[in-house]
Amino acid sequence: MIFGMKKIFLRNITRFGVGGRANIFEVKKDERVPSLVRRLHARGEKMFVLGGGTNIIANDAGYTGPILAIRTKNIRIKKNSIRADAGVLLETLVRTANRKGLAGLETLAGIPGTVGGALYGNAGAYGREIREVVQSVSVFDGKKMRTLSRRACAFGYRESIFKKRSWVIVSAVFFCKKENAENLIRTSKQIRAMRIKKYPRTLRCAGSIFKNILVESSTGKKILPNISHTKIIKGKIPAGVLLEGVGAKGMKKGNIRVAGHHANLIVNTGGGKAKDVLYIIDTLKKRVRKKYGITLEEEVQYLGF
Ligand SMILES: Cc1cc2nc3c(=O)[nH]c(=O)nc-3n(C[C@H](O)[C@H](O)[C@H](O)COP(=O)(O)OP(=O)(O)OC[C@H]3O[C@@H](n4cnc5c(N)ncnc54)[C@H](O)[C@@H]3O)c2cc1C
Repeated sequence: MIFGMKKIFLRNITRFGVGGRANIFEVKKDERVPSLVRRLHARGEKMFVLGGGTNIIANDAGYTGPILAIRTKNIRIKKNSIRADAGVLLETLVRTANRKGLAGLETLAGIPGTVGGALYGNAGAYGREIREVVQSVSVFDGKKMRTLSRRACAFGYRESIFKKRSWVIVSAVFFCKKENAENLIRTSKQIRAMRIKKYPRTLRCAGSIFKNILVESSTGKKILPNISHTKIIKGKIPAGVLLEGVGAKGMKKGNIRVAGHHANLIVNTGGGKAKDVLYIIDTLKKRVRKKYGITLEEEVQYLGF
């Protein structure tokens, strides 16, 4: 056991609230990331990097490798730039930018999790994505620190190069245009008010389970003839539309259920098991494949499977 490693239950540190035992190591200073990762790699087990744990379904059997939890908190502003550690809450970044009249992050208000998690999945909401204001991202690649330009991050819809590499995102620099702070604060406030109705703070979930479908993708083109054009939102066919079409709403297994108000939202009603989440995901994928001939892709990340 490495000094500083803690034994935890994944159900206690993920928003979905499922998952068994694991060993977690919290890193609180970005300069400590390289030495810690080297030590953890030296153990020869596969390390998992955890941000806020808001987009994770963890195995009931737990995880045997070490978990590096990014708990770094520094945030600095210089003119139009904000440098934030990966462990800074996205909400803190949004509020800081808004107060300083730095535009581009305001519609991301209310998305839970950290800056690192948001960059990993190119988080977005209300027509904007985090990539739009990224100037550079610093990572530890297991051997050395690297700084990637926005282009090198290969961002796409809920995609980035980070999903294809085993890197630790350490920090990022965001470049924002100046705008009236009051307007930005107002926009975020309105968005938070809408979001809180859909996702009450105590709701145990991981946000949308499946990715929406880009109309322009081959999958999108395949199902477009079967979808009413009024359902398309900003170039995407919501996965929820297809899920509703296969009777997802209200579906239940154990203490896990699909929300009644949102077919792409699976909720743990208390003491739920990951195996039941997986059963529902698998059943819904099969039903969508049968009815629409396409395979939905998960937006959530699996830990320990
Ligand atoms: C109620 C609710 C609403 C949501 N709404 C939205 C929304 O509107 N838009 C949206 O895009 N998402 C949404 N999400 C999903 C989720 O909040 C985001 O994906 C968030 O950005 C994940 O951040 P996190 O820090 O919690 O990451 P985690 O859940 O901890 O991890 C997610 C993935 O990122 C990786 N990761 C995290 N930090 C790092 C790092 N420093 N280095 C390398 N890899 C890392 C992890 O390994 C994992 O694979 C929602 C989730 C919930 C629960």
